[in-house]
Amino acid sequence: MFRSDLFQGKRILITGGGTGLGKAMARRLMELGAELHICGRREGVLQEAAKELAAATGGKIFCHPCDIRVAQAVDEMMQAIWQQHGPLDGLVNNAAGNFIARSEDLSPRGFDAIANIVLHGSFYVTQAVGKRWIAEKRGGSIISIVTTWVWTGSAFVVPSAMSKAGIAAMTQSLAVEWGPKGIRLNAIAPGPFPTEGMTKRLAPTEKLERQMIGAIPMRRVGNLSELANLAAFLLSDEVGYISGEVIAIDGAQWLNTAAGFGALTELGDAEWQEIRDNIAATNARDKAQRTV
Ligand code: NAP
Repeated sequence: MFRSDLFQGKRILITGGGTGLGKAMARRLMELGAELHICGRREGVLQEAAKELAAATGGKIFCHPCDIRVAQAVDEMMQAIWQQHGPLDGLVNNAAGNFIARSEDLSPRGFDAIANIVLHGSFYVTQAVGKRWIAEKRGGSIISIVTTWVWTGSAFVVPSAMSKAGIAAMTQSLAVEWGPKGIRLNAIAPGPFPTEGMTKRLAPTEKLERQMIGAIPMRRVGNLSELANLAAFLLSDEVGYISGEVIAIDGAQWLNTAAGFGALTELGDAEWQEIRDNIAATNARDKAQRTV
């Protein structure tokens, strides 16, 4: 699908790049020639992922233990990357946390636990990269991993829905503010992609998992490679005119669940015949009443 040297000479940072979607994107970008930098709070997880990805792709990858909730730590990480390696060309805001809870039960700490990573942390990282690009008069590409809740909101995950909507607003705002400086920002809104983070905290029972898959028109979860390919596409200079967009990759799940008739995809021929008969009977009754 892509030239194998698409990202040759490019340096890209993925937050939360040691696990799940972040790791899958790191692998794809390395396969396409990028020098990868990954950050996260757990150094051991980062080191293990880096070892695995370097062996699988033969590419270069560097780990940066960093808690993106701490603005100063983010700036120090960026300083270290710039000084020891050189400027970044791309950034993927992927790190996040989430859990299901009734909103009335949430403590301020519970709310902050999510908002501090997703909303505040993503801004700290984006600003730390953007201000360096602006000072050096060089462009760059940023993508953020959000959710389709940016369009619909979502019950029981309100801190995440609010924070992801904030990242979508940042994407659109900075696409305009930083566009003249050659900086592009886009976002990806994935549907369900099986990762440890997603399964443990968001689909913790088999029943919930079955219900979730039933609501996806393509009747399957996403493949990590599909998400990684979209990330590579959006980061690439080859699509340098795309900016300020939020693109869903969810098998049409959110369109189905946002509209009211999605459950009808479960009906068989007999049930559709019954529906047609009922509608015909209602029409006939109405016509008879009109002629009386
Ligand atoms: P995951 O494996 O739990 O990934 C989250 C990553 O973020 C971890 O590597 C974690 O590393 C890192 N992280 C968390 N807090 C951090 C902090 N304060 N500082 C630095 N790093 C931090 O989950 P995932 O499923 O791959 O999710 C990745 C992204 O995709 C998230 O933005 C998520 O909202 C989004 N998403 C996923 C799905 C899905 O179906 N999987 C669907 C829609 C959107 P440490 O714990 O070591 O810090």
